Amino acid sequence: MIHRDQLLKIIEEITMVIGTNKQFLTDLDQAIGDGDHGINLDRGFRAIKDKVEAVKDRDCGTILKTVAMGLISTVGGASGPLYGTAFMKAGQVVANKMEISPEDAVKIMDEAIQGIMARGKAAQGDKTMLDALIPAHEALKASVESGEALISAIAKAVEAAEGGVAFTKTIAAKKGRANYLGDRSIGHQDPGATSSYLMLKAISDVLVR
Ligand code: ADP
Ligand code: MG
Ligand code: MG
Repeated sequence: MIHRDQLLKIIEEITMVIGTNKQFLTDLDQAIGDGDHGINLDRGFRAIKDKVEAVKDRDCGTILKTVAMGLISTVGGASGPLYGTAFMKAGQVVANKMEISPEDAVKIMDEAIQGIMARGKAAQGDKTMLDALIPAHEALKASVESGEALISAIAKAVEAAEGGVAFTKTIAAKKGRANYLGDRSIGHQDPGATSSYLMLKAISDVLVR
């Protein structure tokens, strides 16, 4: 189970990790996009701090919805609405709940991915955040269904996401700005897949503490 207070720590950790990797994400986006991914996300996560603080005594759904609305209104670019949708869908799964079960976690990732796909019309293999998130969800689901503890299930999801990021280096982009580069995007890892990996890693790091 992930208690509400741990969820708050996870959001803080994600904010910190995005801040630490702001330049790295921006450099990745400089190579195949417009060089703002780290700047966009860092702005968004810093902007949600006070908003989340204001709902810290509420349920997990309210907290995640607050993150979603904050990201949508401040991040901009392609990734803002997409991550915003993901957090919104996540919040709906745990509406009125004070903790997140392993099954909820699987559902959260599933719904988040469906939301991103519905909004961005991308599929696996298009060199986007989905290339980290889809394998991570598959790994999480398989582990939870086989009765593994949530901590180790999430650790496996992180590993799968890392593999997904590496995979994005080998393919050409079919969605987003990198798509304009065609085959010249090959050899570069996708910024959004990288930020998704970093967020999953942040979740895992909080849970093992
Ligand atoms: P922008 O490209 O508008 O500057 P960002 O730089 O913040 O936005 O985000 C770029 C990332 O967004 C990409 O690396 C990719 O992972 C993700 N992305 C772009 N378009 C899509 C899409 N249609 N579906 C899913 N992810 C996408
Ligand atoms: Mg960009
Ligand atoms: Mg941009």
